[in-house]
This record gives sequence, structure tokens and C-alpha cells, in this order.
Amino acid sequence: MNCPNCRKGVMEQKDDMIKQDGVSFEIFHCKACGEEIMTMKQLKELATKYRELRKAKDVTFAKWGNSIAMRIPSDIAEEYDIIPGKHGTLTKGKEGFKVIPLS
Ligand SMILES: [Zn+2]
Repeated sequence: MNCPNCRKGVMEQKDDMIKQDGVSFEIFHCKACGEEIMTMKQLKELATKYRELRKAKDVTFAKWGNSIAMRIPSDIAEEYDIIPGKHGTLTKGKEGFKVIPLS
């Protein structure tokens, strides 16, 4: 795809991040003039991430021995049947980590 702004550069896909929200996204960037364009697909993916972020809850981290503990809000603990002593799995991801409580 040629740049619709300068018509000289070629639009290249790059990864970028909105640091204050910790949200990563893809965008097309022109190295010649610096123009940045999002396709509808890229825009929809970014909108989906922000919709998920709006549903997100604040959590607090605390020191627990040499580890860090995460305080889970009580409504989330109830919804996912999380009780003290129960186990879960933690997986690392590009933007953070995910915890899946085991049943
Ligand atoms: Zn350009």
C-alpha cells in the first residue's frame, strides 16, 4: 500500500503502544512522511481492547514473603469460586498475565 499522504512512501505495518493504558496495537506507518493509518480491522481490534479495559477492575498488589500477592475483589472471587488455598494457573502474555482458577 502506497502512502495516501505523500504518495512516495510505502505503508509498513508496525506495533505501537498507548503506554498510559498499557494497550498495544498495530498501525500502518509511512517512513517517508510519518503518516499513520489504521485499517478498519486494526481499529476494531483496538476498540475491542478498550471495551475490555472499561470492564476491567483495579487490583492491588502486596508483599507476601518473597512473593507479591494480588488482592482480588470479592465479587470476582465469588463469581469464579475462588477461596483461600485454591489453586490456579498463571500464564504470561504480551500485555500482562492471565490467571485461570482451577476447579
Ligand atoms: Zn507518506
